[in-house]
Amino acid sequence: MYLIIRCPSCRTFTYADNFQRWKLCPTCGHAYEVAKAPTYLDVHDHHEAEHIVRQMEKHLHATKKKDFTPEETEELRHHYTTHLRTKKHNSVH
Ligand SMILES: [Zn+2]
Repeated sequence: MYLIIRCPSCRTFTYADNFQRWKLCPTCGHAYEVAKAPTYLDVHDHHEAEHIVRQMEKHLHATKKKDFTPEETEELRHHYTTHLRTKKHNSVH
């Protein structure tokens, strides 16, 4: 499982393995505890995680916002869990 988190220092979205204790921010070099960073989503695949991180950054850039509202976070979760469920179903059969 991968957690979509955000660097508490420079606010860059990234992801970390949920067993990983520390995350070193690739943008600002800040090391922080994964468990203490705000978690936006959790996904099963790191390719998905990368994709979602890009989408989230694009969204904030497009809307000129600094963060997601709780409603937007909820919507993201709903959107991507549905998406992942569909994808998983398709690949099984
Ligand atoms: Zn950072």
